[in-house]
Amino acid sequence: MHEYSIVRGIVEIAGTEAKKLGNCTVRSIELEIGALSGVEIEALEFIWDLAVQNSVLEDAQKKIVFISGKAHCLDCEKDFETSSFFDNCPYCGSNATGLVKGRELRVKSITII
Ligand SMILES: [Zn+2]
Repeated sequence: MHEYSIVRGIVEIAGTEAKKLGNCTVRSIELEIGALSGVEIEALEFIWDLAVQNSVLEDAQKKIVFISGKAHCLDCEKDFETSSFFDNCPYCGSNATGLVKGRELRVKSITII
């Protein structure tokens, strides 16, 4: 499953950070996941417990921050909400638009004690 390997990647990041500080315990981890990141949050939640078993994140609290998609129109300079990469601008109809938010998939913060 796609989400399983994503969680394993997150485990690795957290493990590296915890090791840097001398094998401390990870208390919580905060993730940012964009609407257009290609990650199903439900699937990630579902696989989480299994994927973090026997890892530094086993007892860590997880917080997911969802980031909705936002694009910018190059013609009329307006921003608009979007859920696709190729939406035309709802204000002027231009297709010269670029995604500015929503592709995020990252560890925002890790609390280590
Ligand atoms: Zn526009």
